[in-house]
Amino acid sequence: MSRYWSELARRLSPYVPGEQPRIAGLVKLNTNESPFGPSPRAIAAIRAAAGDALRLYPDPQSTHLREALARYHGVTPAHVFVGNGSDEVLAHAFAALLKQPAPVLFPDVTYAFYPVYCRLFGIDFETVPVDGAFCVDLRSYLGRGGAIVIANPNAPTGIALSPDDIAGLLRARPDVPVVIDEAYVDFGGETAIPLVAEHQNLLVVRTFSKSRALAGLRVGYAIGDPALIEGLVRVKDSFNSYPLGRPAEAGAVAAIEDEAHFEAMRSAVIANRESLAASLRGFGFEVLPSQANFLFARHPAMSGKALAAALRDRAILVRRFDVPRIADHLRITVGSADEIGRLTAVLAEIVGVVSSEW
Ligand SMILES: *Cc1c(COP(=O)(O)O)cnc(C)c1O
Repeated sequence: MSRYWSELARRLSPYVPGEQPRIAGLVKLNTNESPFGPSPRAIAAIRAAAGDALRLYPDPQSTHLREALARYHGVTPAHVFVGNGSDEVLAHAFAALLKQPAPVLFPDVTYAFYPVYCRLFGIDFETVPVDGAFCVDLRSYLGRGGAIVIANPNAPTGIALSPDDIAGLLRARPDVPVVIDEAYVDFGGETAIPLVAEHQNLLVVRTFSKSRALAGLRVGYAIGDPALIEGLVRVKDSFNSYPLGRPAEAGAVAAIEDEAHFEAMRSAVIANRESLAASLRGFGFEVLPSQANFLFARHPAMSGKALAAALRDRAILVRRFDVPRIADHLRITVGSADEIGRLTAVLAEIVGVVSSEW
């Protein structure tokens, strides 16, 4: 705290990302990064973009990337907005769309960045409890609120809603903007993008960080009705005209065009997820049904805090949220087969001992 801080800086409560420590031999399963590398074509395109042209500003509209994304999703470039990671796209969506006279609604158990944006932009919010099975019940989003944001699949639960559920919500709430955050949709969920054609209030937000293994490049995007996109562009051009550098745009175009690499990586993650879930259940964990690249699990005989600490002592990092309802859960990123082997060997020591004492 400094006396030179603005009123705004004083009242913020910033998002705390998962730690990125430099510990040799660490098994890092705490921030949902890909265990596999990005497309080699993306890396080649990034290298090729690192030349003399870097003295010039990039295209402020990221036209090539918006065209590539439009082709990929079967929409027009006017339906596509891109930004410096989907966190930035979400920030602009909160400012441009979700700030309404009535509060924005989101689940009580969801991405912890949403309340942070609300405080930054002075947006009232109301959380809607997920049910006893940690599922989002969209019936609770009817008849109240001035805007809605839902992560689908939800984080940190991994549980997905169907496009029919989302379509039902959109039919019932044509009066408010609805943002669907699809950061994890490529790992088994179904996208709401086809609903954009019929619903002018729907914005779908995506990222290259998870299923495209490009968290370090910082590229995210949104698909929505051109009028919604125009609102986002107004906020973006009041904040930073050039959110994507030349290497980022070139790398993202190459990544979206490398369908073979994408398919191979996401099916490997899905297969690893199912084998890790089976192992965890074998150790007595309760594991939520995940359509994401992580599992959300608790052990009935051990607190989340003790478990996370025991794993950390053995150089395995997982994520835990010290908040009501989920303090005993661990969010475990689906790693490579080697990483899963390390994790299960260590769990055999930790919970194996606990279970026999219990
Ligand atoms: C990881 C994540 C994002 C943000 O990803 P970026 O790296 O900023 O693109 C957005 N929403 C959810 C739910 C996430 O888990």
